[in-house]
Amino acid sequence: MADTDTIAAEANAWVTDNWDPDLSVGEWWATLADSGYGHPTLPENAGGRGYNRTGNRAVRQAIADGGAMGPPTGLGMMLAAPTIAAHGTQAQIDRLIRPMIDGTDAWCQLFSEPNAGSDLASLQTSAIRDGDEFVVNGQKVWTSGGKIANKGMLIARTDVELPKHVGITWFAFDMDQPGVDVRPLTEMTGRAIFNEVFIDDARVHSDDMIGDAQNGWRVANDTLLFERMSLGANPVPLKSCSPGPVANNLERRAGDIVVSAGSGESGVPSPNLVLWERLVEYATKTGRIEDPILRDQFVRFYELAEVNRMLAMRGRVKGASPVTPNLSKLMMSDLYRGARELGAAVLGMDATLHDDEGLEALVQELIMFSPGPAIYGGTDQIQRNIIGERGLGLLKEPGPDKTTPFNELPKN
Ligand SMILES: Cc1cc2nc3c(=O)[nH]c(=O)nc-3n(C[C@H](O)[C@H](O)[C@H](O)COP(=O)(O)OP(=O)(O)OC[C@H]3O[C@@H](n4cnc5c(N)ncnc54)[C@H](O)[C@@H]3O)c2cc1C
Repeated sequence: MADTDTIAAEANAWVTDNWDPDLSVGEWWATLADSGYGHPTLPENAGGRGYNRTGNRAVRQAIADGGAMGPPTGLGMMLAAPTIAAHGTQAQIDRLIRPMIDGTDAWCQLFSEPNAGSDLASLQTSAIRDGDEFVVNGQKVWTSGGKIANKGMLIARTDVELPKHVGITWFAFDMDQPGVDVRPLTEMTGRAIFNEVFIDDARVHSDDMIGDAQNGWRVANDTLLFERMSLGANPVPLKSCSPGPVANNLERRAGDIVVSAGSGESGVPSPNLVLWERLVEYATKTGRIEDPILRDQFVRFYELAEVNRMLAMRGRVKGASPVTPNLSKLMMSDLYRGARELGAAVLGMDATLHDDEGLEALVQELIMFSPGPAIYGGTDQIQRNIIGERGLGLLKEPGPDKTTPFNELPKN
């Protein structure tokens, strides 16, 4: 792999030559996909450039500096693409990954269930073999983007006689089929990012099994690792929009998205230094910046954001502790809480106003959304358990014997 300066120079030149705000979103994403800049950390055989996270950051910076639109948002790019690149066959990689990068497909993550969240391996959704297909029954919940997804990363139990971590398989699942009922769950933000998904005799072909049968727990753990890595990665924010046939953004003018889109995924504000600067500007205008307690809060958030940035850099270094992504994920929860408190302190009562745009609306959204990051991708408590066990070598939590067949375990 080339050094970071070369990657940055090449990416900058490429963006200058190729970005055109008059392209449609679909044309721009296809151009990004053809170049490998759409998802540069994927290996070349999966449509990427095989860059590490430092290289990826350089590419994102080049896209931001060139005023261009970023690649598609969402969980396909973040989770499904690297998982399939790591565990899929070449035929699956060719068939499934390109439509994620060029925005044709939108993916959701069908992992959590009403009785399987932190203890995900307790999942009870079943996939029973029927010839070349599997018949799927069960319920998933908290499915972010489920309403706009045409594909799902499904983990389902394929053998109840095996121990709970063993009899699970990871599938690329068609959401647009009879027997799949997606019902939005409205959050306190007023939006419905997540959904519950009822699956009733739906089908998935064995060609869509990613990794071997009964090996889904290993595959899912990599998906979760990619999730922690991206959630704590402190990425360069890019303007973009949702992919897929339901969101229906492919025909829109790319230049319009750059002007209108928020910097966070799906419009959720990111607790980063861009927001910090906007808050400083606001407090300067209102004179509140002179308040010593508020200044203290500003400094504390700045420190937190900087330490988070450095931790993310440390995570990109070879030989970093395997629990660095867990530490980054924990820190991201703190950042959300810190930004929420700072935003509310700066805006005061204005932070409670319902407004469609402006800093007030952003801070209000942040306040309402801030409990989420401490829960999704593994709660803060679960991150601490992992850091304790895998990082510090503490004793594992007590639990049932790992060899007991799933159908003999007590369940809710
Ligand atoms: C905004 C948002 C988006 C999400 N998107 C998705 C998605 O797209 N797809 C998906 O599959 N899921 C998604 N989730 C679900 C998320 O992964 C789960 O909510 C999470 O894993 C926790 O599971 P649970 O809600 O069942 O809580 P539980 O597991 O029931 O936990 C309840 C409480 O007990 C604590 N706890 C549980 N076990 C332990 C333990 N062993 N040690 C210490 N404390 C423990 C937890 O930390 C928590 O505080 C999303 C959640 C949120 C908030």
